[in-house]
Amino acid sequence: MDHYKLFIDGQFVEAEQGAQFETIDPGTGLPFATVAQAGSADAERAIAAAKRAFGGWSRLTPIARADFIYDFADHVSQLSLRMTVAESMDAGHTIRLAKWWAWCGSQMLRNYAYTAAHEFPWEEDILYSGNPISPGREFILREPLGVCVGIIPWNFPAWMAFAKLAPALAMGNTMVLKPATATPITALLIAEAAQAAGIPPGVINVVPGPGGSLGKILCTHPDVAKVALTGSTEVGREIMKMASDTVKKVTLELGGKSANIILDDADMDYAVNGAVLGTFNHQGQVCESGTRVLVSSKIYDEFLDKMKKRTEELRVGYQLLPQTHLGPVVNATQLATVDGYVQTGKKEGAEVVTGGKRLAIPEYEKGFYYAPTIFTHVKNSMRIAQEEIFGPVVCVIKFDDDEEAVAIANDSIYGLGGGVFSKSNARAERVARQMRTGTVWINNYHIFGDYCPFGGYKQSGVGSELGVTGLRSIR
Ligand code: NAP
Ligand code: MG
Repeated sequence: MDHYKLFIDGQFVEAEQGAQFETIDPGTGLPFATVAQAGSADAERAIAAAKRAFGGWSRLTPIARADFIYDFADHVSQLSLRMTVAESMDAGHTIRLAKWWAWCGSQMLRNYAYTAAHEFPWEEDILYSGNPISPGREFILREPLGVCVGIIPWNFPAWMAFAKLAPALAMGNTMVLKPATATPITALLIAEAAQAAGIPPGVINVVPGPGGSLGKILCTHPDVAKVALTGSTEVGREIMKMASDTVKKVTLELGGKSANIILDDADMDYAVNGAVLGTFNHQGQVCESGTRVLVSSKIYDEFLDKMKKRTEELRVGYQLLPQTHLGPVVNATQLATVDGYVQTGKKEGAEVVTGGKRLAIPEYEKGFYYAPTIFTHVKNSMRIAQEEIFGPVVCVIKFDDDEEAVAIANDSIYGLGGGVFSKSNARAERVARQMRTGTVWINNYHIFGDYCPFGGYKQSGVGSELGVTGLRSIR
């Protein structure tokens, strides 16, 4: 089995206590690599290295930092094949999905480095400034924050690592990254690219290990200026508390239960595809998935028929095979959670139209596969419509008019994503503007751009990442 080490102060090292863990391929259910497991001493060393490195890195000009980051991006591109296979095996991404991450990551690094070097307003004069008693120049000086901790989830490990690293580094901060225990590998491959590109030691550190114990150090350490988590709302609450003692800055990208609204004038095939993509992409393990599909009663029957048919055409199988549309869910725990929610939904009186069961894939019987599942007869108050399931399960809910659709969409503790399908852009936008949620796609779903900020309303998060808004939160 391959073995991966921690990355601290520019070196790949074993954990000080020698601890290791196995990482599992969810498609086979079998371990395929061992990984050094960071403990408290390793986390402390990573923070100390990041603190030392901050002095030099933060004093470089943004253009000099960009030179380093462009090299880093080139090395990430060269890792494309390894990163694709690693993400697919470790996190269960289909090969069609996993192939994007090295490309997205290298583009993100280049885009943020360029923006920070050439467009970001590091200094800004205050116009009309001057107090008549003591006139003088008033201006804003934007400066790097310091050591930033990035804690990432298992659903998009590589992309999330880039989304934390690229803006933080471009803005002159240093970083300690903690990948999810289920999916540690691609963050360590990214560290390989950083080392090969000569990113100064300590600027990037990667410490895989258990969130519970490492979190206590990373989120309370006085030398850490900011913690950025992407993860569950539950862990977000915990991190907010831990960060409060030393009043750290926090960005939290948390859970969701987003509504995808299909209006009566939607293009039928387009909307059906949008609902299927919006729900089942990466087996539904996407924070902003449109897991509540709200459908106008005028087109409900035809829509549901077509959505069922389209869903049943999806090929579930081993994620590295090119014909596979849906791979496994990430691990046995998640599989049990998904099935638990399906049983809850049935008890609550909802009806399974398709799916609703584990799948045994020939030759991959130990893998964690679940059939894409559609529930109807769902009331928005049911647990399956209120709680994040994080698997291939969608609730289809009927509405009578646009107002009711908006009311159902907003009846949630979350507000992360959402969609509106309509042939009229004006009508779709009118509905979208009333949705209390971070991002709304119109006649589309799941599309991200480096320059478009992303963040949640309500219990979906604090602050936003990406775009210039994101850069401003880490200076
Ligand atoms: P999670 O359980 O919250 O874990 C996220 C990360 O936090 C992992 O690295 C985890 O480490 C770590 N962690 C756990 N307990 C911690 C603690 N007490 N202190 C500090 N860190 C701790 O989430 P997940 O199950 O990996 O991911 C799924 C969740 O992420 C879903 O709720 C999803 O909606 C959310 N998500 C949100 C976004 C967004 O942008 N809003 C994007 C993707 C996913 P371990 O792995 O070692 O437990
Ligand atoms: Mg794994």
